[in-house]
Amino acid sequence: MTETASTSRGGGDVRLSGISKTYGSFHAVKPLDLTVPQGSFFALLGASGCGKTTTLRMIAGLEEPTTGTVFLGDKDVTGLPPYKRPVNTVFQSYALFPHLDIYENVAFGLRRRGIKSVRGQVGEMLDLVQLGDFAKRKPHQLSGGQQQRVAVARALINHPQVLLLDEPLGALDLKLRRQMQLELKRIQTEVGITFIHVTHDQEEAMTMADTVAVMNGGLVEQLGSPADLYENPETTFVANFLGTSNLIEAEVAEIHGDEVVVTAGGAKLRLPAGRCSAPTASGGRLLVGIRPEKISLAHADDAGTIPDGRNRITGRIADSSFIGVSTQYVIDSPVCPEFEVYAQNIERDSRLAPGAEVVLHWNPAHSFGLDAAQDIDAGIETVDEEVS
Ligand code: ATP
Repeated sequence: MTETASTSRGGGDVRLSGISKTYGSFHAVKPLDLTVPQGSFFALLGASGCGKTTTLRMIAGLEEPTTGTVFLGDKDVTGLPPYKRPVNTVFQSYALFPHLDIYENVAFGLRRRGIKSVRGQVGEMLDLVQLGDFAKRKPHQLSGGQQQRVAVARALINHPQVLLLDEPLGALDLKLRRQMQLELKRIQTEVGITFIHVTHDQEEAMTMADTVAVMNGGLVEQLGSPADLYENPETTFVANFLGTSNLIEAEVAEIHGDEVVVTAGGAKLRLPAGRCSAPTASGGRLLVGIRPEKISLAHADDAGTIPDGRNRITGRIADSSFIGVSTQYVIDSPVCPEFEVYAQNIERDSRLAPGAEVVLHWNPAHSFGLDAAQDIDAGIETVDEEVS
């Protein structure tokens, strides 16, 4: 931990209370209560137009909320202009000064405040972003990722309590984006201040953030750790937007203690009552979700070898794609028209080819239940093709 980094800590949580933004009659952000714990790496994730940038800009003071209050720690900053808030923003366009070298770009915030002796702090910041050897270069002599690191150093040198990042990696190619995700995570851990990161890339949010708020239509649909959101989605939007989910339309047949038994397309499936985010009652409808990698695939001739107690459905392989670490199958089944199954390529069964009759089976504990009144396809069309 560096001296500069350690002195940047403090300030308390970011708290949004009833914050909203309307443009005319359009609700870009609906009344929102949100707490971002101090020192956390927090992601606002959602498709284009869901209101994440507007939320970020209200924290920065660049957008005036229609209703609600922004707190930094105990302090109400809603009425403060951006430059009076202990907050800095890094944008997708790095906005570096082209005529200044990297050293002077990073020193800018200190010089503006009249600080004469900048060498120690600038050196420390350049080391933090691992650009110590690039101090004399101009921005155009750096790669996109390096320029973005300069932008981060330039923001952090002001010792903000909170760093806001608005799609900071959006202009980078996929490989560089992956490297920068790890780099930003390292920097955040080192400086220990709160980072609030806006992205539409679910993999990016999950790689970097401790907590992710999934936004849709101006609302936070669900908030939690990446693993919790992935394993326990509570809406069809979250189930489809974060990774892929098979969602089966089912009818509740019976409830045995903490197990729910449903029927779907002639199959009987079980799932834990504790993993149902919708009320369950006999005769009611439920969407049963199962992630593609939780499912095992057996050729129909081997159906007898499947252990008891597993959920099982039959189908026919419609398509298979070999993608190196795994093979992705699409299965036609009476239970679900396009069932996706990802099988790790450990020992490949050559019989599992398009046209083959198969049995899909999985541990009932891996299923989750969602409210059947929702749009089953919510979130699917908005997934970023490049990263999915
Ligand atoms: P993106 O990833 O595309 O930036 P976003 O989730 O960050 O999307 P916002 O920029 O917050 O979305 O915008 C939310 C909604 O508010 C959008 O439908 C947008 O068109 C609308 N909006 C944003 N700014 C204005 C404005 N100044 N006037 C009218 N509508 C606006």
